[in-house]
Amino acid sequence: MIDPQPKGSHFIDGTHVEDGNGAEIPVFYPASGARIATVYAATDAVVEQALASATRAQAEWAALSGTERGRVLRRAADIMRDRNRDLSELETRDTGKPLQETLVADATSGADALEYFGGLTGSLTGDHIPLGADFAYTRREPLGVCVGLGAWNYPTQIACWKAAPALACGNAMIFKPSETTPLSALQVAEILHEAGLPPGVFNVVQGRARVGSLLVNDARVAKVSLTGSVPTGRKVYAMAAVGMKHVTMELGGKSPLVIFDDADLENAVSGAIMANFYSSGQICSNGTRVFVQKGIKEAFLKRLSERLEGVKMGDPLDEAVNYGPLVSAEQLEIVEGYIAKGIEEGARLVCGGKRVEREGYYLEPTVFADVTDDMTIAREEIFGPVLSLLEFETEDEALARANDTEFGLSAGVFTRDLARAHRMIAGFEAGTCYINSYNDAPVEAPFGGTKMSGLGRENARDAIEHYSQKKSVYVRMGDVEAPF
Ligand code: NAD
Repeated sequence: MIDPQPKGSHFIDGTHVEDGNGAEIPVFYPASGARIATVYAATDAVVEQALASATRAQAEWAALSGTERGRVLRRAADIMRDRNRDLSELETRDTGKPLQETLVADATSGADALEYFGGLTGSLTGDHIPLGADFAYTRREPLGVCVGLGAWNYPTQIACWKAAPALACGNAMIFKPSETTPLSALQVAEILHEAGLPPGVFNVVQGRARVGSLLVNDARVAKVSLTGSVPTGRKVYAMAAVGMKHVTMELGGKSPLVIFDDADLENAVSGAIMANFYSSGQICSNGTRVFVQKGIKEAFLKRLSERLEGVKMGDPLDEAVNYGPLVSAEQLEIVEGYIAKGIEEGARLVCGGKRVEREGYYLEPTVFADVTDDMTIAREEIFGPVLSLLEFETEDEALARANDTEFGLSAGVFTRDLARAHRMIAGFEAGTCYINSYNDAPVEAPFGGTKMSGLGRENARDAIEHYSQKKSVYVRMGDVEAPF
């Protein structure tokens, strides 16, 4: 078992660093509210230490061959898999997500990213461009020092999804986890160093918005990758623009899941459960606006209510438990506020809606029917276990209403009609889509949003384009002609 209290709040230049002068950040186990650790926000001196260390280490790391860099990442993936149980237990303590989930979705998906990008590094090249007798070529070069800012719902995964492509391309990274879940990124740092990463190439500093903005605004930083909410995205993107820095923005959503009459009912219900209640609904890509065609609506609701009886709430460290608490008391309050708003605006509460009478931040899985497009619960990201069911009649209507949102992260469709499925996908204004499924995120496929949900892509070869740049080189083989 990993002691939740880290040896130091930060990890810089290959070692744990502590500075108790920083603001205290308490860490709570969401299933009980008990304090399990304390870390301290980075002081200006700690931020400076991380920036200096990353800047120095980056050149050395970039000078290694791709194969050598890849070997480190792949070794880290192996260590991560070997320690999956311990890492998953820590992730469960930090986030409150059921161990049943963390065992298969957190360190394992982080390891997938390290393995995938570790395998790519040797083949990250430029191009040769023939130009008659002359030619040009491109060099694929790292950006330099990259900053990663994480959200609290998938701390290990987010750290790895950013670190793996960044490091593969020869960058250094300073990662600031969410202040709500600061623990597992430190494990990622330890593992990378155990795997042979030179000190300073991957650093972790703790802190809130202030530390994040110090990092984003520093002239030594070339790129910022944020996973967070749209309001934070706006601020971070604006700060990065001042320094003309590269950005990747993985932001929030209010994604549609469209279920047609001809869909396999059982699969559609499973999809809606995965799209709303996995991780107690705290997933950016969730399909929280569930559009169900009129003919199947009552049957869908009935089956969904029956299936929700299969929720096993309890201590998330118990592997039989499949539904855990929300991450914090604050998040619980926010979600309760939305539920009250849903009731006030006339949505029909079909099930759930209440805090659970036990310690910790538990909220019943909640389903609203008779939701209309203008209701707050259909427009704003709730980031909790609240499903809104909206009825529709025609395909055109469903598509228009699905797209009537400022967000564009994900979208899904359940139907047995293949042509219709592909028409819907072509029409969806969203970056990550699903046919007869929901919320899969394999490292081999790009992941990211459109519209206010962000820009850039994580995972797949696409991420390489966001962590490297090409230098064009013209090579003249003969004499240079000049007018005078
Ligand atoms: P948040 O926006 O509050 O914080 C995200 C990170 O940004 C944190 O590390 C925070 O400390 C930092 N931050 C906040 N203000 C900052 C500032 N002014 N300057 C620099 N850094 C700042 O998000 P959250 O509440 O931790 O996470 C939930 C949100 O994340 C939801 O909106 C969710 O949809 C989104 N999310 C998106 C994805 C995705 O891949 N698209 C994945 C997970 C979560």
